[in-house]
Amino acid sequence: MIVGERKPMDEILAMLEGHSRVLVLACGGCVTVCLSGGEKQADELAALLRLAARKKRRPLTVDVDCITRQCDREFTANLKCDPAGYDAVLSIACGVGVGFMSELYPATPFLPGLNTTFYGASTASGIWQEYCYGCGDCLLAWTGGVCPIARCSKNLVNGACGGTNNGKCEVSREMDCAWHLIYERLEAAGRLEELRKVRPPRDWRLDRSGGARRLTQEELTDEEVGK
Ligand code: SF4
Ligand code: SF4
Repeated sequence: MIVGERKPMDEILAMLEGHSRVLVLACGGCVTVCLSGGEKQADELAALLRLAARKKRRPLTVDVDCITRQCDREFTANLKCDPAGYDAVLSIACGVGVGFMSELYPATPFLPGLNTTFYGASTASGIWQEYCYGCGDCLLAWTGGVCPIARCSKNLVNGACGGTNNGKCEVSREMDCAWHLIYERLEAAGRLEELRKVRPPRDWRLDRSGGARRLTQEELTDEEVGK
């Protein structure tokens, strides 16, 4: 899932300065699962905004709405509140949702209520761990399922570096060394010979360094949003 966390209230209040009618828009996708941008969090955020406005004796109307996913045009028809009726929409979807919705409603400012952080999984109650960086050229087949791009601080594909220490990364004692994890995983699977192979340099053009990426499945295409 895409993992994000709510921006600090001071930053949210600064973004909303000058807006007196605001819609807090939740998303029922990943951000609901990671407990940062679902309907419950939207209700809490709306209550905090109303309270902050009352304290400052500032007129502010805050409504709340939620759609199944803000990154899919299929669900925008389910909006109960029309974004055009607000000075601003505070979206607590990930950055994809905010960007996509602002393309659909260009006359209304869509403001990000979250900092979108990474692709991750919930490893314990209340804890999310980054697992993938969306590099476009997946290497997990020979790393025992541990991603060296997302989880090694230096994105090494031929690790470990000299800084690994008792299973921890030299960047932080709190952080597991990805290449130590890869070693353990390959050892458990009886595949340590994988580590003897020198991997060629990656084609980083498939990564973000090649600009914004797109995926087209020709047999499914129809008219594109924003074109
Ligand atoms: S190698 Fe690339 S695609 Fe595969 S998990 Fe890591 S970042 Fe994601
Ligand atoms: S210590 Fe491990 S995780 Fe940290 S940079 Fe070196 S190889 Fe990567």
